[in-house]
Amino acid sequence: MAFLELKNIGKIYVSEGNVAVGIRGVNATFEKGEFVAITGASGSGKSTLLNVISGMDSYEEGELYIEGHPTSHYVQAEWEEYRKEYISFIFADYNILESFTVLQNVEMALMHIDDTKERKRRALELIDRVGLTPWLKHKGSKLSGGQKQRTVIARALAKDSPIILADEPTGNLDSETSKEIIALLKEVSQDKLLIVVTHNFDQVEQQATRHIRIFDGAVESDKEMGGEVIAPAMSETENEVTEKKELLLGHEDRKTRLGKMRTSWKNACILGKALLWSKPKLTIFLGIVMIVASLGIFLDCAMYGANMMEAVQKSTVFRKMDGRVVIAPQDGTEFTEKTIKQWGEETGAKKVITNDSLLETTQSYIYISTYNGSDYDDQGYEFIVVMDKDYGTPDVGHYPEKRGEVFLYLPLGAKTVINKNTEYDIIAGATVAGVKYFVDNRKTAEIMMTGETYDSLCGYMNESYKQASLIYENDSEAKAAVEVLRSKGLYASTTEVTRQRDIWELLEVLMTFVFAMFTFVLGIIMLVLLVNLITKKSIRSLRPDVAILRSMGIPTDVVKKSMYIRMMLTLIPGVLAIIVMQILMAVVPRMNRMFTFLTLGQYLLIIVALLAFVFLLTRKQIQNLFDESVRKTLRGGADK
Ligand code: ADP
Ligand code: MG
Repeated sequence: MAFLELKNIGKIYVSEGNVAVGIRGVNATFEKGEFVAITGASGSGKSTLLNVISGMDSYEEGELYIEGHPTSHYVQAEWEEYRKEYISFIFADYNILESFTVLQNVEMALMHIDDTKERKRRALELIDRVGLTPWLKHKGSKLSGGQKQRTVIARALAKDSPIILADEPTGNLDSETSKEIIALLKEVSQDKLLIVVTHNFDQVEQQATRHIRIFDGAVESDKEMGGEVIAPAMSETENEVTEKKELLLGHEDRKTRLGKMRTSWKNACILGKALLWSKPKLTIFLGIVMIVASLGIFLDCAMYGANMMEAVQKSTVFRKMDGRVVIAPQDGTEFTEKTIKQWGEETGAKKVITNDSLLETTQSYIYISTYNGSDYDDQGYEFIVVMDKDYGTPDVGHYPEKRGEVFLYLPLGAKTVINKNTEYDIIAGATVAGVKYFVDNRKTAEIMMTGETYDSLCGYMNESYKQASLIYENDSEAKAAVEVLRSKGLYASTTEVTRQRDIWELLEVLMTFVFAMFTFVLGIIMLVLLVNLITKKSIRSLRPDVAILRSMGIPTDVVKKSMYIRMMLTLIPGVLAIIVMQILMAVVPRMNRMFTFLTLGQYLLIIVALLAFVFLLTRKQIQNLFDESVRKTLRGGADK
């Protein structure tokens, strides 16, 4: 049984209706230890032959046997496995990972070694063998052609595959370097099958053990040469062979599958990180774009998103107050304080508000003037009036105790104008007894007062007694009271129906909402386009690298995972920016005043959305990338 056998192999290229014969009727057998030189005119089919052997090109006719197994039925995954198992490929245009160091290039090919220390040790050994130790940390792009080709050879050795294919490996080198490279190839592939395509037969004549000439897609001659055939050493024990076969046949148990998963993620992490830092400028740029994007989303949400939410809040024009009943005399006359209190007592009200105009004007703008010792600072806040509530321990002062005292519940941003040493002068004679700050500045400020303060403030505002409110324990008690009060000849209703929605008011709210939404969505769309563009560009820039990684036989799933990891890593600055903003808002009152605060959940939502978005973009780009054939990408690269 031959190690590699080609039987009547034919390959036809069909492109845009044109049919070109790549190779036809090729018969040949190859053994380990051979050094086969292939020559022929340009376009005669040498590369095609090599590509077919490497499994990078399919063939339409004949059969390729590897260790006696036919391959014509192979699907892509099987070819990948085949390449991983058997093939190392060396091209004229080097195909090393330009942005990786020599060490990284070789380490990538040693992915099958689990222990990273051992991996490095092996890599150093191989680099030494090809004489590149002094250039260990040099990036591929900084190497000379000969050094690049040496790196590629070290990489091929790292893979330790039984077949090394070289397509004009010295095509871009001067004759001196070419000789060195050929000698090196011969030296390192003693027990392997080495097939070298060359247009310069002189260079290999000394070393080759066999010479195949191709003419017009077919084998013209196939001759033994003077080079010494070195019989392969028995490197594999019988055990190892069966182990390998079992792996190939899929006879692996759960444990090894899990182990493989872990290894593939670990390798993907190593590769992802290497890809990330292989292009530092691009990575920094990506990080900045992600910061811009996440801050953009943050600002967009803080400004227009908040406007939108506010509009929605306002659209429920009437604010519900549990257990409140509004009463008014039916004949348009005025109540007296006494009659109101009487109604309250008769219907079991918890609290009586003799004049509820403050309640009706809640969420109107109230100015607090604060005196900081030298001058006044005016700060307007929209307040909800609250009768009694527990805000926890006050940040400043105490809860209202006396007539005329109020308690403020304010956004943190107000802290810059109101502090411990400030004297307050608030709405007509009331004094501030205490303050509690909250962090979420989308909430409306609240002003809490005792019933007495309330009445005195209303008195000050000189409102008439045409309407009053009775507060009950809960809504159902309030509803019962409404029945009673109506039967006594009063206008009475629970709060849900006391105020009619005004069509203009609604229209205004609607317009605010539509405008805010429009701006909000526009902002998001622009950011999405930006991230889309940059993600696309950044992944496309890895096109040659990915093709090389694949041609090296690094499993597709490892490469794919590493791309995801790389993209996700670039998001870290953006996520950090949002976290920093969040902390700043909570710590610096000025920031809190400037931006509408989003809740933690909303921040998480932004981050998750960003992650999901970048993930989907990456997936799409990766799909595009992997839909192209390796050979096409590599050749595309060579054409440039
Ligand atoms: P060589 O390597 O000996 O110069 P190739 O194997 O590259 O020759 O090409 C053999 C023949 O196949 C040529 O006629 C070439 O035009 C054709 N060919 C090679 N690749 C393609 C392709 N991707 N599409 C169409 N024709 C191709
Ligand atoms: Mg060629």
